[in-house]
Amino acid sequence: MTEAILVLNAGSSSMKFSLFREGEAEPALHLQGQIEGIYTAPHFVARIAAGAVLDETRWAEGTRLGHDGAIAYLLEFLRAQLRDYHLIAVGHRVVHGGLEFSRPVRVDAQVLTKLEKFIPLAPLHQPHNLTPIRVIAAQAPDLPQIACFDTAFHRTQPPLAQAFALPGAITDRGVHRYGFHGLSYEYIAKTLPQYDPHAARGKVVVLHLGNGASMCAIGAGKSVASTMGFTAVEGLPMGTRCGALDPGVMLYFMDELKMDARAIEKLIYQQSGLLGVSGVSSDMRTLEASSEPGAKAAIDLYVYRIGRELGSLSAALGGLDAIVFTAGIGENSRLVREQVCRGAAWLGVELDAAANRANGPRISTSASRASAWVIPTNEELMIASHTRRALSPKQ
Ligand code: AMP
Repeated sequence: MTEAILVLNAGSSSMKFSLFREGEAEPALHLQGQIEGIYTAPHFVARIAAGAVLDETRWAEGTRLGHDGAIAYLLEFLRAQLRDYHLIAVGHRVVHGGLEFSRPVRVDAQVLTKLEKFIPLAPLHQPHNLTPIRVIAAQAPDLPQIACFDTAFHRTQPPLAQAFALPGAITDRGVHRYGFHGLSYEYIAKTLPQYDPHAARGKVVVLHLGNGASMCAIGAGKSVASTMGFTAVEGLPMGTRCGALDPGVMLYFMDELKMDARAIEKLIYQQSGLLGVSGVSSDMRTLEASSEPGAKAAIDLYVYRIGRELGSLSAALGGLDAIVFTAGIGENSRLVREQVCRGAAWLGVELDAAANRANGPRISTSASRASAWVIPTNEELMIASHTRRALSPKQ
């Protein structure tokens, strides 16, 4: 029987899964898929690693499968499909590990209680990340479950980079800059030596530009600073999140617009960013194809903010040896990469336009003082690798 590791990434309305085979130098992807719309119109699809659809199910509009139902369906599917496989562990993406968890951890009842305490720090993600852990623990109490945190990679940041200029009593309550997308950054930091060993030992800014977006300054492979802070709404404009906002704007929302916390939450998380500015879409492909002036304005602001953050993160590093683009927009948008690289000429980045059109991996000229790369991220593999390591008795 082949041993396998299941990786789960549970969001508010979807659950992504990947199954990795064990027994090779690194975990090998066997199949992956997701259940989307679990509270509205659930849609399950599983693909083999090469991409072909293995199985697909649609539920009627209005079906509320919920997280419990989605996990139950998924486990049943895996049981039926994988008679020759033996599941040895489940690795979970968990957004928040607070200051306490700076590495993956095997979850038991005590750890779960601690992770629940972080729910107020990430109310839109953490509860959904924890639900599958609870459901699986009830069904299969002996199956090891490993929590891998989006915050953990950033715990190497110097205290200054993690601090807000707030009174100590507030800081003591856990109001810090935590940083997110850590599994993606960790994967890039691990992979970069294959592309540019010199830069990997030096000063690198990674741009994780997906629907959620952030940037991370990495010095000698370790996180030094990042654009995301206490929550995942800080920093860059994103698909629907506004990114950095003058805190005085919050007071204006409350005092003048009479908005309460929930209304502000909706505005800054779901109605802002590329969607809010463009009035067209949160999707970069749609914006690039649109002739609406709002679409161009949104891309311009997005690129401008990236340029400003690149300067800030380079300052935190004291220089720049390389930039790396990753995630949906970073891996695919030639336009955004071109504009960002052109704006970074003052930092020594010289774009190779033809290489950028070909999607890299190296998109800077050989004469470029700082190199530029396109490297696809792989958070699932990172989780599978962590899970494997956490099972070893040496851990
Ligand atoms: P992610 O959250 O990493 O899946 O990234 C989603 C974002 O990537 C969306 O804004 C997509 O529009 C964007 N994206 C995906 N493919 C492309 C493409 N070919 N060109 C531009 N943007 C893309």
